[in-house]
Amino acid sequence: MMFDFDVFVIGAGSGGVRAARMAAGEGARVAIADDRALGGTCVNVGCVPKKLYTYASHFSHDFENAKGFGWQLGSATFDWPKLVNNKKTEISRLNDIYANLLNNSGAHIIRGYACLKDPHTVTVNGTDYTTKRIIIATGGTPNIPNVDYADLLISSDEIFDLPKFPQRLLVVGAGYIALEFACIFQGLGSQVQVSYRGDLIMRSFDDDVRRFLDQEMCKQGIDIHYQSQVTNVVRQPDQSLLVTFLDGTQTEVDQVLMAIGRKPRLTGIGLEKLGIKTTAQGTIAVSQNFQTNIDSVYALGDVTGGIELTPVALAEAMTLVNHWYGDGTKTMEYDLVPTAVFTQPNIGTIGLTEEQALKKHGKITIYRSDFKPMKHTLSGSDERSFMKLIVDAVTDRVIGLHIVGEGAGEMLQGFAVAIKAGATKADFDATIGIHPTSAEELVTMRSPS
Ligand code: NDP
Repeated sequence: MMFDFDVFVIGAGSGGVRAARMAAGEGARVAIADDRALGGTCVNVGCVPKKLYTYASHFSHDFENAKGFGWQLGSATFDWPKLVNNKKTEISRLNDIYANLLNNSGAHIIRGYACLKDPHTVTVNGTDYTTKRIIIATGGTPNIPNVDYADLLISSDEIFDLPKFPQRLLVVGAGYIALEFACIFQGLGSQVQVSYRGDLIMRSFDDDVRRFLDQEMCKQGIDIHYQSQVTNVVRQPDQSLLVTFLDGTQTEVDQVLMAIGRKPRLTGIGLEKLGIKTTAQGTIAVSQNFQTNIDSVYALGDVTGGIELTPVALAEAMTLVNHWYGDGTKTMEYDLVPTAVFTQPNIGTIGLTEEQALKKHGKITIYRSDFKPMKHTLSGSDERSFMKLIVDAVTDRVIGLHIVGEGAGEMLQGFAVAIKAGATKADFDATIGIHPTSAEELVTMRSPS
């Protein structure tokens, strides 16, 4: 049977665009549909604008730190609309780049919400397109609780473009998104509170890292409430929000950011019609080749409920295309995915936490370092850095590496290569440090702690 396309990709985010471009590059006839701006969450309301706002927030720390180095600065003022507008300009430049990349690859862009009609037909804006294969790469969307004050809450989709800068911000949740925004807005000048249901921030991370970041965030004046639950939010006549917690306490803020996780974006896409299997979390169940239970339908990226990171979605897309059109030798490995959290200071982490390492390897050796970075000997800041290596005591392999400190995200990438290549502690010890840097600490840890 002759189809209109060989591959129809639903969702032009990180994973979808990469799959479309790679498949088109292999000579496939490719269509890609999206109803929103090209680039998906990462480009429009995720990684890219978040990183730009992180840079913006760092200046206040830099201005403060500069004094110890002899700089006299006037009083700095911050122009929120200017940041928002400059960010919009940059994002629309990236949207155009995505359109060009797709067009140049030969993929056909269709603007609109795509729905599955049958295993080989996708409908967009009332038009049916037939296709040999379909990839669902629709990503995710923030969870907003089903409460009667939901319209008073914002998510990470709205926070970038708030018409007015929130002088007082309450962030609910203590994962990646919650803490990155808490640090961004604290740096930009907001008074920030975090409400978290648990006992310690960043649950899936190493406990030392969690405690260290908590301590560093508190030093900056971020007020973290543990065992905390919001029970009501009311808009007051002066437009502020009165938030009530389960323990009866109240606080007045300008915005409440819900950062309590994300869910797959699949509404109305037609999974039920085709009988496509989903998991208990509502994500699409796929095989290791990203195939759903319907042979011609595939899914990748956040919508499959794996590790929700752009580089993971990109790698999945390339693996799938390699499987179809290449030699099929690429496979996805999810056990050593490096990740950074762009808090102030950053977290950079790869491999196992101490708890996981103990469970998996039994005999481990731990190296820790908690120090004042050289910059802060003059800056006057009391910010500290933390580094931790977890070593398999039998094989000497480094199985976990954790950094909290300025530039941790940048520092981690190179170490991730070493760890992926199976570096041992002896390899770390044999590597000459770069002096004076913070990263040299990772190759000069000699005594287990
Ligand atoms: P996370 O899973 O990181 O954090 C969710 C937070 O919300 C946790 O603190 C969780 O608590 C809490 N939570 C979950 N459900 C509820 C609830 N019903 N009520 C109250 N609190 C709740 O999700 P995010 O939304 O922050 O981020 C989603 C993903 O996006 C991340 O996992 C990450 O993969 C990716 N991301 C990556 C970034 C990066 O690479 N720098 C930046 C931003 C996002 P508990 O721990 O108790 O479950």
